[in-house]
Amino acid sequence: MKLIFLGPPGAGKGTLADLAVEKLKIPHISTGDLFRAAVKEGTALGVKVQGILASGGLVPDELTIALVRERLAAPDARSGWILDGFPRTIPQAEALESFAPADQVVNFEVADDVVVARLSTRRVCRACGKIYNIRSMPPKVAGLCDACGGEVYTRDDDQESAIRTRLETYRRQTEPLIAWYGARGRLVTIDGVGEPSLVLERFDAALAGAR
Ligand SMILES: [Zn+2]
Repeated sequence: MKLIFLGPPGAGKGTLADLAVEKLKIPHISTGDLFRAAVKEGTALGVKVQGILASGGLVPDELTIALVRERLAAPDARSGWILDGFPRTIPQAEALESFAPADQVVNFEVADDVVVARLSTRRVCRACGKIYNIRSMPPKVAGLCDACGGEVYTRDDDQESAIRTRLETYRRQTEPLIAWYGARGRLVTIDGVGEPSLVLERFDAALAGAR
């Protein structure tokens, strides 16, 4: 099954995708991860991506499309995938239709204030990438990773000003995709607020209803 997850940054799409891939046995492909890998490799492309992400902006379509297209052609993506963070614009959606149309689009609804509260308290281990939340899931020793002892920090794109910028960008550029996929009969919308297990139940019910 080929699925797209839509919703604002911080809607919990990544967490839900990790739960869903265990059941569906397909890869979770996040453009955030594709971008961070490019940054880590320090390629010319990665340096460009780094500057854009730090300011809360979006990576240009043609660059993103090329990265995604390459990833979807990998052997593990043959029987399906969950795309998270792509498409973000109508031109990206049109490009995807031309090489790998999705079967279903899942739209996670979460209010802006909930997103800001979630993301501004998120922390990440600089060494191993483990995710914490200083309110709901803090590390045992403040600032240090439980798993590896690495530094736990706030990512540039989780600073409140960057979150507000990302939300504005989402509402302007990505929200039109909800109507776009709706008009093509491939959209289901679910409430993204609550425990991941509860959101997973809503997700299962929505997919069963869509089949
Ligand atoms: Zn760590």
